[in-house]
Amino acid sequence: MKPFFNRVAMIGVGLIGGSLARGLKKHGLCNTITGYARSVQELEKAVELGVIDDYASSVKDTVKNADLIILAIPMSAFESVFNEMSASIGSETLITDVGSAKASVIEAAKKAFGKLPSGLVPGHPIAGTEKSGVEASFDGLFENRRVILTPTENSSENAVEQVRQMWQQVGAEVVLMTADHHDQVLAATSHLPHVLAFSLVETLGKMHESSEIFRYAAGGFRDFTRIASSDPTMWRDICLHNKSAILSVLKKYERHLKTLELAIEAQDEQAINDIFVRAKAARDENVVD
Ligand code: NAP
Repeated sequence: MKPFFNRVAMIGVGLIGGSLARGLKKHGLCNTITGYARSVQELEKAVELGVIDDYASSVKDTVKNADLIILAIPMSAFESVFNEMSASIGSETLITDVGSAKASVIEAAKKAFGKLPSGLVPGHPIAGTEKSGVEASFDGLFENRRVILTPTENSSENAVEQVRQMWQQVGAEVVLMTADHHDQVLAATSHLPHVLAFSLVETLGKMHESSEIFRYAAGGFRDFTRIASSDPTMWRDICLHNKSAILSVLKKYERHLKTLELAIEAQDEQAINDIFVRAKAARDENVVD
């Protein structure tokens, strides 16, 4: 069933918030969208682009009378935004978000609200680009992409269903899991690769022949490091807010890298070959380009 929201409050109207707002409008899922961001220029641009209908000058005024509140803000902003809205939300208000780490969003909500609201259904679209800001937003961003919802122990069935249907209407496939499981899976599949890409480019950039290295960089380097041009502030925040899961997978990776290093040092043809054959088979079987 197609959900319909009279007034949506979109806190953060950048790439993800802007794209979701466009999707909600395109699919006729709401009456009006009121936006909030700290920069008035960003908000005016969002109105000019037709992404939001109007904007308010505080979180409190943005969420007033909203039947759906979406937080599409950096991980570092959740605690203060939850605090600012805590006195203004109705008991039936639906609240969801798009943050890349989930346990810390739930922790921030607990701190701000005392008790987790039944309308809160945290979420994370596995979709994005290396660009930021409302001008990079587009309505098809979530089509055929997965969205993970991590309901809390207090999320009502009705709230989960409405948020699930909202994402399905904008073209996404919705899956449900616990916040901790989400954080472990994303640490391995997204956060670790970004950490490695940033670290590799930083390592090469620090070598004094770096300009020559980058000049001769071939397709493999470009493919592997594309994600190192993602927003550094966003990725700093993700590392800070998914610390234990990232550290755990990073340590596992370091152990595997050490095994490979030792095999190369020992000229162990068989061991090197085995690692590469297993990795190729795992990628070929499981990843669709
Ligand atoms: P973005 O394009 O930089 O947009 C962030 C928006 O939040 C801007 O409108 C920004 O405007 C606003 N904002 C920043 N700090 C704020 C604050 N303290 N209070 C209120 N508004 C604030 O970022 P994004 O890529 O859309 O990312 C938003 C969230 O989605 C992040 O939590 C990220 O982890 C998650 N996410 C991102 C991707 C991706 O690939 N980009 C994918 C999935 C999930 P002002 O700076 O003017 O306030």
